[in-house]
Amino acid sequence: MPDTVFSPPEPVLLPVLGTASLFPVRRVYCVGRNYEAHAREMGHSGEREPPFFFQKNPDNLVNNGGRFPYPALSSSVHHEVELVVALKAGGAEIDADGAIAAIFGYGVGIDFTRRDLQAEAKAAGKPWTAAKAFEFSAPVSPITPVASGKHPFENRIWLSVNGDMRQDATTAEMIWRVPEIICELSRLFTLAPGDVILTGTPAGVGAVHRGDRVDCGVDGVATLSVDVI
Ligand code: MN
Repeated sequence: MPDTVFSPPEPVLLPVLGTASLFPVRRVYCVGRNYEAHAREMGHSGEREPPFFFQKNPDNLVNNGGRFPYPALSSSVHHEVELVVALKAGGAEIDADGAIAAIFGYGVGIDFTRRDLQAEAKAAGKPWTAAKAFEFSAPVSPITPVASGKHPFENRIWLSVNGDMRQDATTAEMIWRVPEIICELSRLFTLAPGDVILTGTPAGVGAVHRGDRVDCGVDGVATLSVDVI
């Protein structure tokens, strides 16, 4: 170990289904407006525009959900259920075949969003960081490794609050499909093993409140449950 001025931060490690090995997280990228009906519910056209990206911090990921402490300075925190992609390889300007080969596995996660702060930021042309990259803002399931080339590209994605179904769609509705997302990201950034991508949310986002129970899943991949406290 090098002599450091204080202890280095603990690595962020996600469990991997079916093994004792852990997935070490490097960066967390998120895709904006990747389902037409969600783009429309947020007041946008839903036309296919180039994808855009923002980031969360690796330590915003919360293993297996559990409890989501309602964040300070917001009174409108929304759930966004998303298919999570975990990379085992990287590079720049990855092509479609390379994108598929780079995928280690998948999970389900929630991109919790301070919608009020995001609306203020949008109106002022300011960044979304405070709306997106706050503590505990990304509960995620364990990672399910890709099994025999089966990718969850036509799978139901859903989220319920206190048993009421709020988001219910299929990953086939993505505007930018997973390989395209990886290709586009890799033109902007050099990707690497450990990078995690939240691939956008379908329609039906809405507010959560303290005391709510949130359940979500991508069928064939994983489920996740979170209590808002
Ligand atoms: Mn999102």
